[in-house]
Amino acid sequence: MSATHYNHLFGPVPSRRLGRSLGVDLTPFKTCSFDCIFCQLGRTTRKTVERREYVPVNEVIAELETWLGTGGTADYITLAGSGEPTLNSGFGRVIEFARDAGGIPVALLTNGSLLADPEVRAQAARANVVKVSLSAWDASSLEHINRPDPSIGFKGLIEGQWLFRNEFQGELWMEVFLVWGANSTPKDVRGIADLVRAIGPDKVQLNTAVRPPCEEYAHPVPEEQLQELARLFEPTAEVIAEYSSDSSARVHATEVDILDTLERRPCTLDQLCAVFGLHRNEATKYVGKLMRMGRIVQHRRAGGVYYAGVHRGDS
Ligand code: SF4
Repeated sequence: MSATHYNHLFGPVPSRRLGRSLGVDLTPFKTCSFDCIFCQLGRTTRKTVERREYVPVNEVIAELETWLGTGGTADYITLAGSGEPTLNSGFGRVIEFARDAGGIPVALLTNGSLLADPEVRAQAARANVVKVSLSAWDASSLEHINRPDPSIGFKGLIEGQWLFRNEFQGELWMEVFLVWGANSTPKDVRGIADLVRAIGPDKVQLNTAVRPPCEEYAHPVPEEQLQELARLFEPTAEVIAEYSSDSSARVHATEVDILDTLERRPCTLDQLCAVFGLHRNEATKYVGKLMRMGRIVQHRRAGGVYYAGVHRGDS
């Protein structure tokens, strides 16, 4: 709706758990300490644990200032986006500014791999809500599912998350991402649930690969099974995988426009982002939903992954 173009902000996007959420992107595309097999953004292009100002924090703060100054409103400001936000050495300053100047609660979505570092914990603790992910139960499952930077060990990862829980006064949510055949048997999930219980988050959320994942073999766990597995957690996990759709008017309008475009011309995710002014996170939501509805299909070609509309009458 706004005419202002932002390089580091996206949305606000409707989010089921965070209401209207303004996204803040603090890293270049796919700069991450993990390379998860289920990542909806594709393979990690820069795998690192080096913390620095990948995106200038002053620039992000200036954009937030403009957004707030032009009447921007949201239920949450969320640090998420193209990579791991805690890799940005100044992410705590962004949280502080958003919370104090904007008076809007701040959520941080992190893979939790850097929480062994006291400085990262101190910066993260400034958020109102921190969502940490954990999808492995030992070193080899971490290696298989999250493919971390070689300097990240399983023990340090769990210790960091545990220490953070003990220091953080806000709401800690944990997201467990299950992939069919990789970490989806009751035995695997019990292993993860034991660790989650020891960490003691306020909420546990279960997700699965309903949007196109990075690796073709990362299949989603069916909904009924995910519901069953949710009971292995304490507190019982909430299933957040979007098997069904968001039907708000704005989402519906964008979805219709995207489908319309793809029925005329196959596009990559990047092309859709450019045409509709969407962040990749948002675009994957629409593409995932249209694929589940059988309205579009995915083709892998030399130039990348293309999405194309399935014309009615096609089989
Ligand atoms: S899912 Fe998150 S943590 Fe995993 S590779 Fe993608 S951006 Fe990194």
